[in-house]
Amino acid sequence: MLCALRVSEASEGKSGPVRNPAKKVLTMSKSTISTFQLFELFPDEASARMYLEARIWPDGVKCPDCHGDRITARPARVGFYHCAACNFDFTVRTNTIFERSKVPLHKWVYSMYLLMTARKGISSMQLAKEIGVTQKTAWFILGRLREACSAPDNIDGKRLTYKRLIAPVGGMA
Ligand SMILES: [Zn+2]
Repeated sequence: MLCALRVSEASEGKSGPVRNPAKKVLTMSKSTISTFQLFELFPDEASARMYLEARIWPDGVKCPDCHGDRITARPARVGFYHCAACNFDFTVRTNTIFERSKVPLHKWVYSMYLLMTARKGISSMQLAKEIGVTQKTAWFILGRLREACSAPDNIDGKRLTYKRLIAPVGGMA
């Protein structure tokens, strides 16, 4: 079985309504992808952000507060959105496990990958080394990811998302 991972290029630098922009469709097999493939898919923050936007908003960007879809992308700040209905400003991180974290999104994605694929699990010390953050930050990331893994898959709620975000990165969903 194949799992389609849609990588969208969500209206970068454009204003106006944000439609589901998935331009590229990547498919991952159910078996685990290699680290090399992972780095090819997510070389930077932007690629990880586009991936996460496509996973979190499969039908186009929605307001995480009122769930409205009259959304404009901020022209000057890539990845920043504004809801016309409730005036809420948000990013793909808002109300998710990535909230209040300065860790670049591709490091989050790589952390998910390690969590899903490391046969013996991963410690905060190992993760810190792998992604170049402090152990405290690594501990924070692992805490958030584990919390998401044990939470129900509630895409509209505060906490995403084992099935939707984490498992697919390991190529297992
Ligand atoms: Zn809203």
